[in-house]
Amino acid sequence: MAAASIGAGAKTFNVGGRAYPYVDHAFDVVVVGAGGAGLRATLGMAEQGLRTACITKVFPTRSHTVAAQGGIAASLQNMTPDCWQWHMYDTVKGSDWLGDTDAMEYLAREAPKAVYELEHYGVPFSRTEDGRIYQRPFGGHMQNYGEGPPVQRTCAAADRTGHAILHTLYGQSLKNNAEFFIEYFALDLIMSDDGVVQGVMAWNLDDGTIHRFRAKMVVMATGGYGRTYFSATSAHTCTGDGGGMVARAGLPLQDMEFVQFHPTGIYGSGCLITEGARGEGGYLVNSEGERFMERYAPSAKDLASRDVVSRCMTIEIREGRGVGKNKDHIFLHLDHLDPALLHERLPGISESAKIFAGVDVTRDPIPVLPTVHYNMGGIPTNYWGEALNPTPGDPNRIQPGLMAVGEAGCASVHGANRLGSNSLIDLVVFGRAAAIRAGQIIDRTATVPDVSEASCEKIMERFDATRHLNGTIPTADLRDKMQRAMQEDAAVFRTQESLESGCKRLTEIWGEQKDLKVYDRSLIWNTDLIETLELQNLLCNAITTVYGAEARKESRGAHAREDYKDGPLGGRDDENWRKHTLSRVAEDGTVSLDYRPVILEPLTTYQEGGIDLKKIAPKARVY
Ligand SMILES: Cc1cc2nc3c(=O)[nH]c(=O)nc-3n(C[C@H](O)[C@H](O)[C@H](O)COP(=O)(O)OP(=O)(O)OC[C@H]3O[C@@H](n4cnc5c(N)ncnc54)[C@H](O)[C@@H]3O)c2cc1C
Repeated sequence: MAAASIGAGAKTFNVGGRAYPYVDHAFDVVVVGAGGAGLRATLGMAEQGLRTACITKVFPTRSHTVAAQGGIAASLQNMTPDCWQWHMYDTVKGSDWLGDTDAMEYLAREAPKAVYELEHYGVPFSRTEDGRIYQRPFGGHMQNYGEGPPVQRTCAAADRTGHAILHTLYGQSLKNNAEFFIEYFALDLIMSDDGVVQGVMAWNLDDGTIHRFRAKMVVMATGGYGRTYFSATSAHTCTGDGGGMVARAGLPLQDMEFVQFHPTGIYGSGCLITEGARGEGGYLVNSEGERFMERYAPSAKDLASRDVVSRCMTIEIREGRGVGKNKDHIFLHLDHLDPALLHERLPGISESAKIFAGVDVTRDPIPVLPTVHYNMGGIPTNYWGEALNPTPGDPNRIQPGLMAVGEAGCASVHGANRLGSNSLIDLVVFGRAAAIRAGQIIDRTATVPDVSEASCEKIMERFDATRHLNGTIPTADLRDKMQRAMQEDAAVFRTQESLESGCKRLTEIWGEQKDLKVYDRSLIWNTDLIETLELQNLLCNAITTVYGAEARKESRGAHAREDYKDGPLGGRDDENWRKHTLSRVAEDGTVSLDYRPVILEPLTTYQEGGIDLKKIAPKARVY
């Protein structure tokens, strides 16, 4: 490529014989993403007087967080006895003992504070008779260190909790003078020659200009990568762009093999019916009219952990007890519940069931199927949200200049399986933690450093090359091929054979990227180019998922291998596999795997008021 002219005066990149004018910005912090995590981080940074930019490819209140229905977990004790230690226990068990102990303690302890802050910022929570925040039961959340009965821990604003949180946080961020760059697509991280993150390059979708954001800290809050699969509850914009950017920067992703299937996606559309529906008394039945969860999870029944319920449903269908013409799904009954309760507590899903399944929930059951819902893996961080770039000698080494929060990150509090309503709380607890940390470590008086010219050139070269891809395969076709491979080979149940097939297929698909064709070459609202850039990001996430899964010779949480299911722990192998997977992808699609130990030390000892470590010692996970 021709030399790019970067710096004072000339503001144009010259790539592939084309000129790309660009606008230069300098901030203390640049947050990429305006979902719950990105907005909570942005707000916290701006409140402390850090000059903060928030870049987002969709309008903030259209981020996937807006779709979160059921609620946000915190041990407020408004409706049943509860304490943070019980919440922590449930999170540890839910993670199938893969979560980091310090981060899980931080989550459970800080949760009530973070929820009251939301309340004070203005989130319109549903209320109890006496005016407290309403809380509902949710899967895997129990009293008495898992002994039961179920606890009411999930705070809700009807079944539109994410919607309420997102609108409140956006308003508060504006009030605190955070600067928003809306409908800007972040392309890649700017990296210094010695491996420091120095900023991010973005494309303004509306006018086609390129923007270079220099920053002392970049926070990835780009959400999950549900769209690597064919059927997902997540928005079409959940394409794991943060994972793609991090992978291209040569940094690792963690625990990518753990993909959560939600038990109740609407059959056909994949649209979510919240677990809150079962929290309010809904239950699943098979073709024999049997409430089969009573057989598999006698104590928690329909409110067992998500991975457990998804597997039971899959077994019922496989054994011929599915419902419908093809016996390929399950019924969720809400028709026994009081219509007034449905109207008050579950208005959104009543509407979704009507639109997407043609069902009146007061009369008929909803046809449902396990559907991809959440990514436990992501950019590894500590409990301050600081990204990690481990070396063999230093598994907790901090990556300078980078943080990650929300579904894009992996702190790791969800380990091998996330409990329902533990993501929204993860967004606000760690969004807030990242802001606190940034306030401590960023020197507000220092000037924002210059950035690596070579790194900017490389980013623009890739952008230009993608824009001019001139092969034979339409982006939608290759994406479809990837989604089908993931759906078939890395599903609820996995085997060595299916995962080997997944690796082979994903490697082939990776190779086919060079034969893509981008039909639209313009820079203004070019959705063809956006989707192609998103596909490149999706593939970084998909390929690390299958390779990580193939290598992990055990069953744990959402990673259920049929060839590893025996033994007292049901196929879990703590001796060899209680460790985090780290994966890196080379440009040619080669995935290299490494591992780092799970953090077992809590933040506070039992004597200091912390949890009794004996309580969270590994054991078989039964509900
Ligand atoms: C239907 C549904 C219901 C759910 N219900 C619940 C629930 O009740 N309780 C719960 O705890 N969890 C729930 N979850 C999970 C939870 O909502 C998500 O994990 C969480 O909202 C993710 O938030 P986030 O801030 O990490 O990312 P998101 O909300 O997905 O936001 C990502 C942001 O990144 C931006 N972005 C991405 N890529 C780029 C790019 N290249 N350039 C610029 N910007 C970019 C987007 O514009 C967006 O602003 C639900 C999930 C779904 C799908």
